[in-house]
Amino acid sequence: MPITPTKKIWMDGQLVDWDAANVHVLTHSLHYGSGAFEGIRAYPTERGVAVFRLRDHIERLVRSCKILMIDCPFSVDEMVEACKEIVRVNELNDGCYLRPIVYLGYGEMGLNPLPSPVNVAIAAWPWGTYLGDDGVANGVRTKVSSWQRHDPNAVPTAAKSTGAYVNSSLAKVEAIKAGYDEAILLAPDGKVSECTGENLFIVHDGVIYSPLHSDQGSLEGITGQTIERIAADQGVEVRYETLIRSDLYLADEAFLTGTAAEVVPISSVDDRVIGDGTPGPITKKVQSTYFSAVRGEVERYDFWLDYV
Ligand code: PMP
Repeated sequence: MPITPTKKIWMDGQLVDWDAANVHVLTHSLHYGSGAFEGIRAYPTERGVAVFRLRDHIERLVRSCKILMIDCPFSVDEMVEACKEIVRVNELNDGCYLRPIVYLGYGEMGLNPLPSPVNVAIAAWPWGTYLGDDGVANGVRTKVSSWQRHDPNAVPTAAKSTGAYVNSSLAKVEAIKAGYDEAILLAPDGKVSECTGENLFIVHDGVIYSPLHSDQGSLEGITGQTIERIAADQGVEVRYETLIRSDLYLADEAFLTGTAAEVVPISSVDDRVIGDGTPGPITKKVQSTYFSAVRGEVERYDFWLDYV
């Protein structure tokens, strides 16, 4: 997905020109994957552009830092303000994607990260649908990956750490090379975990199911939590349970959720067509409410929006 440059990037409290927002080649995180990051979206609303669940994302960033023993030099409030500032100064009034990253900078080399300086950057740019407009409308073809999700005792899966994404990239490339849109990763115990950058949900007999985050090492997704609330308000229960591969094959509906991807129907898993291959009624309903909520069209969900 190409990046569209904007004017400024926030770096350690300063607004830096886009082209000058560089790091040294000996930046610790570049070598050892020792960073934490977030993906956030802002959407246009009738009251101006608003960042969706901004504080929830920044709080997760701080939790990721805690797990990685990175002492983040900025508070949640400061980073929330910085996110809004970067949308404002770049005049991203039609919405955008925001990428805050806390990384270990230049100064130390070697596997002990503790003496390294900690840097924070926040970039924002306009970004279209992550899995394509057709995927959002008609569903994506998925494949169970030969790559496993991390064991949480190998790489902590509750942290959105930069290094952990080697695993997702391997799975994504394998799926794309095999002609699919997205990969589904299984946990080391063989149970279903999540996709490369999205949580996974299935619908069976009117109930939505998703794997347990703590057991199957999936990230606690904010979009998934949003869908949980939207579904509950529509009288549809979401249960977090262990899922096995054949549960996916036999699902009535399936969809994936993520800030970048948003809410995307799954049309097939390992070439087994889900339902009739088109987005099912529960998927369509929660998806359309999600798109209305992020755009400020549903009053009861206005508390999720941070107006810039
Ligand atoms: N799992 C992984 C591995 C992810 O990278 C993401 C994206 N952050 C998600 C799930 C979904 O999380 P969210 O809905 O908070 O974007």
